[in-house]
Amino acid sequence: MDSRVKYAFFEGKIVPMAEAKVSIATHGFMYATSIFEGIRAYWNAEQKQMYVLRMADHLERMFDSMKVMLLEIKYSAAQLSDIIVDLLKRQEFDVDVYIRITVYKSAKKIGVGLQNVPSDICIFAVPFDDYYEGKEGLHVCVSNWRRVEDNAIPARCKIVGAYANSALSKADAVTAGFDESIVLSESGSVSEGSAMNVFLVRKGELITPSGTENILEGITRASILTMADDLNIKTQVREVDRSELYRAEELFFTGTGAQVKSILSVDKRPVGNGQLGPVTKKLMEQYYAMGEGKIAKYKHWLTPVY
Ligand code: PMP
Repeated sequence: MDSRVKYAFFEGKIVPMAEAKVSIATHGFMYATSIFEGIRAYWNAEQKQMYVLRMADHLERMFDSMKVMLLEIKYSAAQLSDIIVDLLKRQEFDVDVYIRITVYKSAKKIGVGLQNVPSDICIFAVPFDDYYEGKEGLHVCVSNWRRVEDNAIPARCKIVGAYANSALSKADAVTAGFDESIVLSESGSVSEGSAMNVFLVRKGELITPSGTENILEGITRASILTMADDLNIKTQVREVDRSELYRAEELFFTGTGAQVKSILSVDKRPVGNGQLGPVTKKLMEQYYAMGEGKIAKYKHWLTPVY
């Protein structure tokens, strides 16, 4: 772990990171009976301010995920927002960070059932720049792994166990020499990236797979759909065929980690002319300006830390 991570919220209080440890017998560790959230906070150097992005939406999604996995904690969303702000203040970060919240079955207990297994929450924040370490754009493949289905492990619930599926598709893409993967649903339609949503531009319109395609209903995806509307770019949320990826003028990923990242080729076929396209560029610029608090109409998405 990055040595700049000095503190964590663990077992009800802020403690030094080195003390935030769970037993190997913890239910959430043994059976992946946990859910998580990842939230970004952007540093604005001019204002010497840090903004947490869409914290209320992330916490709302977290409580929805918890409901499915029968996880319960004693904190409200408002209390958790205060805890997150406190943790960030304590760290005195002056760079972009990624906040990781895990809600987990904390009992030390054998047996996979979820009833009568107490839960807890832990939080830490780590400096986080570009998920793809400065790459201008990505070369991706369509994975031969399929997306885990809603009736197996629902993707919309950000369940830790489901990330074995993400890890397999990502790892095999990297082994094969690609930066990232796009996974299909069992039905063969496009779902998403390993930990990001996917957007296509076709005839100038923005298209993204719908919520019923075994995707995580991404908060960045929602922000991009709103921004596109505001820029008078037409949007379609619908089923997407694999071959549309090869016919798209532009393709990009969205996610808290990935932010807005252009895809330059799929399965060795260039996307459009193989360069960053104008629609992606525009949305990317809007997104980063929004994160730094430079667009008044999106300021309500931001929680200042300092
Ligand atoms: N899909 C998956 C599987 C993810 O893990 C993520 C990252 N949270 C996303 C999509 C993007 O979601 P968001 O924009 O809310 O980070």
